[in-house]
Amino acid sequence: MPKRGKFYITTAIDYVNAPVHLGHCLEKILADVIARYQRNLGKDVFFLTGTDENAQKNVLAAEKRGILPKEFVDQNANFAKLVWKKLDISFDYFIRTTNKKIHWPGVKKLWLKCQKSGDIYKKKYTGLYCKECEAFLKEKDLKKGVCPIHLKKPQRISEENYFFRLSKYQKELEKIITQDKLKVIPKERKNEILSLIRSGLEDFSISRSKKRMRGWGIPVPGDKTQIIYVWFDALTNYISALGYGRDEKKFKKYWPADIQLIGKDILRFHTIYWPAMLLSAKIELPKVIFVHGFITVEGKKMSKSLGNIINPLDLIEKHGSDPLRYFLLREGSPFEDIDFTFEKFKRRYNFDLANELGNLAMRIVSLQKKLKIQIKKKITFKDKRIEKRLLKTKREVKKKMEDFKFNEALNAIWSLISFVNSYIDKTRPWEKGKEKIVKDLISILREIAQILNPFLPQTSQKILKQIKLQKPEILFPKI
Ligand SMILES: [Zn+2]
Repeated sequence: MPKRGKFYITTAIDYVNAPVHLGHCLEKILADVIARYQRNLGKDVFFLTGTDENAQKNVLAAEKRGILPKEFVDQNANFAKLVWKKLDISFDYFIRTTNKKIHWPGVKKLWLKCQKSGDIYKKKYTGLYCKECEAFLKEKDLKKGVCPIHLKKPQRISEENYFFRLSKYQKELEKIITQDKLKVIPKERKNEILSLIRSGLEDFSISRSKKRMRGWGIPVPGDKTQIIYVWFDALTNYISALGYGRDEKKFKKYWPADIQLIGKDILRFHTIYWPAMLLSAKIELPKVIFVHGFITVEGKKMSKSLGNIINPLDLIEKHGSDPLRYFLLREGSPFEDIDFTFEKFKRRYNFDLANELGNLAMRIVSLQKKLKIQIKKKITFKDKRIEKRLLKTKREVKKKMEDFKFNEALNAIWSLISFVNSYIDKTRPWEKGKEKIVKDLISILREIAQILNPFLPQTSQKILKQIKLQKPEILFPKI
């Protein structure tokens, strides 16, 4: 089948200074649902995720553990990859910014392009540097003299660095975001970034002294004393992974990105720095920046100091990946924070998955087995009421997917599931002579399995297999 156009989707790349945890899962799941949905529409999808490894933090963390920085980043990058595999994240490529063959040529090329446009210059600079942010902070950003995020006092540092002429792009950035040429969703985030742009953009430093970085990171082309600033380097992953700087054909095939997913804490980097760098290098801009909320645990942000970090592998090993995907997708709008508690997870699992979906599949496949009904390739309905209800759900799901309201799409699917459950109660298909009804029920279950595919890929496959083999099995043993 010929592909119906390309679709390029990216997640942010995670820091590897600590293992990924539940807080990193939402973004990957959202991106995966979109990627699977687009593939099902026949698009040639390229789905990118990966790890951001050139931060100085990694050198410090490795030193503390008494291992080499490379060993340290390998451990956490491999762990991230393992978690995403277990969570059925269907990424096409996993980029690591320490990969000299894949990533570095793109970063060097982008740097040289920006330099050619006259947007990179050297300047002596004194500023307040937060090691954790890996960024210079302004006096006005500090709260009681400390970094508002890390609650640590920044160091006063004086060095000669390269700067990027961000101020030059202020008007243009304001225009393209206002006009949705670079569409920032949801609207609140668009307004937030527009007001930040209007408050004035200053040039920013895009290199660090090699000595202070202890040689870790990508060297500035033509200057051995400087390392490229980790954000300039990291943002480039979205094009280097495609081949920018080494495989122009593949790069041109997939770029620009159709959607880039990010958390609200890195909005500024993706809607100001990133598009400015691309404008400078005369590269097309991504189409959509999708800014999702955070996962909290019992109302609190996950953090080491609070001791409330959840390892997603524990949940996946106990209950499978689909229940975790389902919970995070169904619990609320992806643009808001999603609060995880084990009680809420259990409720969703037992009620929505075990009672409603699991029970429906069990009832229908058991009837199928009893009557030994073989399925045909084409799905048909005798009772037009069911078919009508199905079409209504499909329309709703399509609309909700286009608006990225995944929780509402799942609402619509679950409303169909409970419709079919009560249809069974009313029509009593277990009585004699009701084979036609059972056939319709098998058809609707096959359709439900297909609609569920982007959200619950394993469950979708299991249901279809049970129908094919006429073998009912419990999908979700109760917690
Ligand atoms: Zn900080």
